[in-house]
Amino acid sequence: MTTMTTAALAGSIWGAAHDADARRPRSVQTQLGASDTICQRRAGYILAGTERNNPYADKRAAILGTYIHRGLLEDARREYGWLVERVVANDLLRGHIDAVHLDAEAAARVPKRHRPLVPADVLTVEDVKTKSARIWDRVVRFGPTAAEMRQVLLYALLLREVGFADIPGQRYLHRLGPLNVQRIRFRFVCRDTGEEHVQEFPFDLWLAEQARWWVERVLEAETPEELRRDHDGPGLSKVCDNCPFITACWPEVAPGDAAQTALVHDDDDRAAALAAYVKAHERFRAADSEKKRLRKMLDASPEGDYGANHLGWSGGNDRDETDVPAMVALFEDADLVVPMVPDAEAMVKVLRRAGLVVPVRRAATRASRSIKVSVARKAA
Ligand code: SF4
Repeated sequence: MTTMTTAALAGSIWGAAHDADARRPRSVQTQLGASDTICQRRAGYILAGTERNNPYADKRAAILGTYIHRGLLEDARREYGWLVERVVANDLLRGHIDAVHLDAEAAARVPKRHRPLVPADVLTVEDVKTKSARIWDRVVRFGPTAAEMRQVLLYALLLREVGFADIPGQRYLHRLGPLNVQRIRFRFVCRDTGEEHVQEFPFDLWLAEQARWWVERVLEAETPEELRRDHDGPGLSKVCDNCPFITACWPEVAPGDAAQTALVHDDDDRAAALAAYVKAHERFRAADSEKKRLRKMLDASPEGDYGANHLGWSGGNDRDETDVPAMVALFEDADLVVPMVPDAEAMVKVLRRAGLVVPVRRAATRASRSIKVSVARKAA
């Protein structure tokens, strides 16, 4: 891991960005935000006011995401009249909703100058998420993570039960009272290409109650340590690698040992880990042989969209190989000693040293080809 502290970045523009980020309310708050529901243990640390200490966190991608997010929402507010970054809260939770699209009934109850240009057909809570190109295919294919879904459901629930928070700057919204949220929307934006992908779901009260239950379990815990670690730990999870509570969460282990070794205390733990390992290996073996069979089945298929997926290939080009018989002839012509058993590598070195061109010929087999499966372009 590379140390990414401000001091280590002396002279870099990122020093300023890291310092500003450290002062943002989210980096210092001890009240649970709906967006903190990514890990039970982490939510517990926030509530307990545990010191944030992660000298290895690399927040650059997240900070870029914040800049893009803020710029997009501000322009949507100015150009489309979107209602952005509004606060919702109850005794347990607080959060900033990226955008709320009022329906005609609610829009008619706000002062004229605050009305949306076009009211929504149903009242919608929207969350804008920036994502990297590395995981874009997964985002388009599978949509929000469980934690992202939980966050937006909690926003919607707060709006349905309390309405907008009673704070300066949005009192006219607070006066609307509880609102009939009918839909939640995720707007994913790729940080690298600008591509946009929107997914909508009808508001589901049962799922929202599950999200509330999750928060209540966190609030009930007497110490953060009682709460589950929802991610696999340093080196295995980016969420943990960049978590401000990594030091509190993962006890120190002997130098060179993986942080996860701290989860094994005795032979019972070893037996349980081994049994789970055997089961995981069996699932992996079955999935791997199925993948190999399917890969062979597709070997002769041309690139293109098939159903929901796009098939692509990389590699598989003709390749050249050293022409050993031609090298032997060249050695003889140049009065060089041909080894008793031709050693292609050594002969190449001799020819290069002698300033002669190494003869090559087209190989009978092609370079290996890799399959590339992505979301079908039509579907994306
Ligand atoms: S280090 Fe990982 S498991 Fe621990 S609190 Fe942070 S996110 Fe959760």
